[in-house]
Amino acid sequence: MRINPETGNLRGRPNGAHVEIKCASCNGHFSVQPYRIRTARFCSLRCKKRYRSSDKPEGIIRPVKGMINDYGIDKTGRIWSFKSNRWLLGVINTQGYVQFELNGKSYLGHRLTAKAWVKNPKNYPEINHKDGHKTNNYYMNLEWCTSSQNQKHACQMGLQKPRYKLSDAEVSYIRKTYEFRKNTYEMLAKELGVCKDTIRRAYKGETWKNL
Ligand SMILES: [Zn+2]
Repeated sequence: MRINPETGNLRGRPNGAHVEIKCASCNGHFSVQPYRIRTARFCSLRCKKRYRSSDKPEGIIRPVKGMINDYGIDKTGRIWSFKSNRWLLGVINTQGYVQFELNGKSYLGHRLTAKAWVKNPKNYPEINHKDGHKTNNYYMNLEWCTSSQNQKHACQMGLQKPRYKLSDAEVSYIRKTYEFRKNTYEMLAKELGVCKDTIRRAYKGETWKNL
């Protein structure tokens, strides 16, 4: 047999001869051609990336509340497992948020990051992604807010369809209380946590025509 000058691999090796080896990242078995036994370490690119990022935590990690001995979280929202000594990958859930499985339970990544890294002096219940990207859990991108602030922001960022956001009662409230220069669209928008446009259209009857 001769060596292929370009790849350094042996030429003329039949394709069928595969060997099972173990993935260094997920411990799963996968098969490679024999010439790759020494160089192949991962079953997939995903495993390779995971393995690479599994060095010791850089920078500061803070304990995850209630799971101090098991998990730590850094400013970017990565979760370090003290049990398996690596960063957890997390998944994107159906709503587009990063989700982690910690001790058998599901947690939203942005909530964990905010709880560990973002101050919440007014004890607000929700968290807003300032740039509108649900997967960007860098602590500077998160802020605690009220439910209506969160909705308003989502509306401004085009993340929500405004027309579904008012109840019938709110629409009649808008039509009753709107007053030119006194109780403006802007004030009502702030009060109800939607954008100005939603208020204007509801008031003028462009939306909720049935009421
Ligand atoms: Zn693997």
